[in-house]
Amino acid sequence: MKKSLTLLVLAMGMLSACHPSEESLEKVLKTELEWKAQLSEDEYAVLRLKGTERAFTGDFHDSKKPGVYLCKACQLPVFDAQTKFDSGTGWPSFYKPVKDKYVISLPDTTYGMSRTEIVCARCDSHLGHVFNDGPRPTGLRYCINSLSLSFKAE
Ligand SMILES: [Zn+2]
Repeated sequence: MKKSLTLLVLAMGMLSACHPSEESLEKVLKTELEWKAQLSEDEYAVLRLKGTERAFTGDFHDSKKPGVYLCKACQLPVFDAQTKFDSGTGWPSFYKPVKDKYVISLPDTTYGMSRTEIVCARCDSHLGHVFNDGPRPTGLRYCINSLSLSFKAE
């Protein structure tokens, strides 16, 4: 069973490699135990429990390398380094996702604030928040946790 699953995952990986511009958004559903086994404690706290890493502590907040940022939990390419900008907030900031449909916006009223949460469209993991004070062309600022991201250099 496990072996056929691995083969399936490999085959899907090869398919997506042939079509890098279009990723499957078929939901990745795992139990919390499975997520815990896959992620570090800090990654789990952010991705699955909607935590926020401390500003200026993440791996990517001041990175300017060209490449693509993937959802750490399911490897969906969510942000391109080309759309990254220096927001001065201490979190990696982007003005748009790789594709609008790769992230989902949800209302978040925790901590007495009215914010818009951003989750991965494939595995529903928490990535960060989006604000309306970003640069052109979108005017949006996707404020994302480094712990939610993997980086694939170009
Ligand atoms: Zn994901």
